[in-house]
Amino acid sequence: MFDLKIDAGKISAIKEYISQGENFVVLAHVNPDGDAIGSSTALAYYLRTMNKKVNVIVPNAFPAFLQWLPAANEVKTYDDNKEQCDALLAAADVIFCLDFNSFSRIGAMGEAVASTAAKRVLIDHHLAPDDCFDVQISETVACSTAELVYRVVEALGPSRAIDSTFAEAIYTGMMTDTGNFAYASNRKDIYLIIANLMQTGIDKDIIYRRVFYNYSVNRMKLLGFVMYDKLKVFSSSNAALITLTYKEMRRFCAAKGDTEGLVNMPLQIKGVRFSCMLREEVPGKINVSLRSVDDFPCNKVAAEFFGGGGHLNASGGEVYGTMEYAVERFKAALAKYKEQLTQ
Ligand code: 5GP
Ligand code: MN
Repeated sequence: MFDLKIDAGKISAIKEYISQGENFVVLAHVNPDGDAIGSSTALAYYLRTMNKKVNVIVPNAFPAFLQWLPAANEVKTYDDNKEQCDALLAAADVIFCLDFNSFSRIGAMGEAVASTAAKRVLIDHHLAPDDCFDVQISETVACSTAELVYRVVEALGPSRAIDSTFAEAIYTGMMTDTGNFAYASNRKDIYLIIANLMQTGIDKDIIYRRVFYNYSVNRMKLLGFVMYDKLKVFSSSNAALITLTYKEMRRFCAAKGDTEGLVNMPLQIKGVRFSCMLREEVPGKINVSLRSVDDFPCNKVAAEFFGGGGHLNASGGEVYGTMEYAVERFKAALAKYKEQLTQ
């Protein structure tokens, strides 16, 4: 596997934007995960060491297990502060777009970002970016956007930003997007970055525990219920499905983040190569999470059946309608992809 290098011309362009700009906004996607929050707070930290005014904005709230991250309390949520965020976006000289590549992934904020006069810089690792960025760092081979932020900051030149605060945020993004380096993490240069991060004095074991050993009792009970009652394995298609209705989530008082990671678990079953979770977030709106192993393209399934997209092995989408209808869509996807799943 080759080592990842960021194009020098793009780095020069970003350098120029940083030296010319005064007000910066860093954005990440809806339902922010560890990579979204880790990469955006790390980049904001770097820009602040360059004496820039920086705001981090995400469309909606992020899970409690990320709230320990340095500067996570400064992250603004668009849903709760629309007017203030619109003003910050309008006043921005440069907007960094992290861990998403299409305005459709930032909800209602998309309009404000599309109409701004600011320069827009993309740093992302998803497939097929929209053509709406002035500088586009789009590297699907990267394990995470956090990896790319590290590389960009390193390439921008000597910086006092690469300290333990920065390293904790970058490591969190890399760790969460790879399931603690269990997938999408076979490139050796990932571990060279980690060695550099460790040199700042971070404790990766503590970071692991802060993120993954931070669940509520409710989440554990929800997990037990899901695995016992809600998991269906389709052995002849090497696939598994979990459904969770709005009512069931209320029963377990499921909070933001409590369903995180559940969709990965059926992949631990021998033979299962494709896992789907259908979660009724609000009545009538089903959130779809898809995971796969090897080369099964769950992003194709997400695009074809659930109006979404994502990575080869981790993607998502939405269904507007009943749970029964969403399950039908899943079964239709299995019928279409059965051959690929069983070959
Ligand atoms: P999750 O299942 O954790 O919500 O999402 C997994 C991954 O799928 C995300 O990191 C993101 O890359 C992708 N994803 C989720 N929902 C969508 C969607 O509606 N559209 C696109 N393009 N990607 C999505
Ligand atoms: Mn990511």
